[in-house]
Amino acid sequence: MTATITTWPAHTTDPTPVPLPHLGLCGDCDDEIRIRVDGRLYAHGCPEDGRLPVVALKPTFARWLWTQSKRRDDYTNRLTLFAGRIFRPCTRTVTSPRDVAWSTAEELHGQLHLKQLAWRGSAECDAQCKALAEADQHYQRLLAAYTPRPTKPAQRKPIVRVRHNPTGWVLPDYTDLADCTTNHIPANASQPPCTAPAVWKVVEDHGLHLTISFWCDSHLPAEHRTTDAA
Ligand SMILES: [Zn+2]
Ligand SMILES: [Zn+2]
Ligand SMILES: [Zn+2]
Repeated sequence: MTATITTWPAHTTDPTPVPLPHLGLCGDCDDEIRIRVDGRLYAHGCPEDGRLPVVALKPTFARWLWTQSKRRDDYTNRLTLFAGRIFRPCTRTVTSPRDVAWSTAEELHGQLHLKQLAWRGSAECDAQCKALAEADQHYQRLLAAYTPRPTKPAQRKPIVRVRHNPTGWVLPDYTDLADCTTNHIPANASQPPCTAPAVWKVVEDHGLHLTISFWCDSHLPAEHRTTDAA
């Protein structure tokens, strides 16, 4: 029996590109995971769900085409049809853009020709090359309008060192003994100054700068009291 074109389901081959993906590298499973609007990783059954990615990844042609291949509209969208043939060839399953040896459309074009050479002993541009060129045009248009999703820089907690000296601490410039830091907090300006010896020294290392404070025994902030003091 011969099927005529009128018996096929109604379809169109209009190309509908997917938006460029916002992907980040997960610090635990090392996979490329979509990033939410707040810069955190979408849930993917991993301890890092909802955490910040190790690095936000560029939306390369390979990553975009892979996202396109995830759509289920192969019958109506020829970009999905093309992407599916690249990422899900019949004999094996490719699951991620990291499994392919190309990242740009140009590199993929070279790979397609290498395959042709291997199969036929010659290579010339065919329908698949044409489909690739069309996909790349869509990609380039999306890339020109692309704004990376703002990712929050990972906040590192400062490293805190707390030291106790029963006779008090000399100021870094050796001019005098340090007084209690409560006296230098503007909100306390109207209070009588604290004259108790500042026996605690707290050094907070923020990576790019240090903050040093001195406290009498009663004014030492509670969060530093629990730190091992020596
Ligand atoms: Zn993960
Ligand atoms: Zn070609
Ligand atoms: Zn004090």
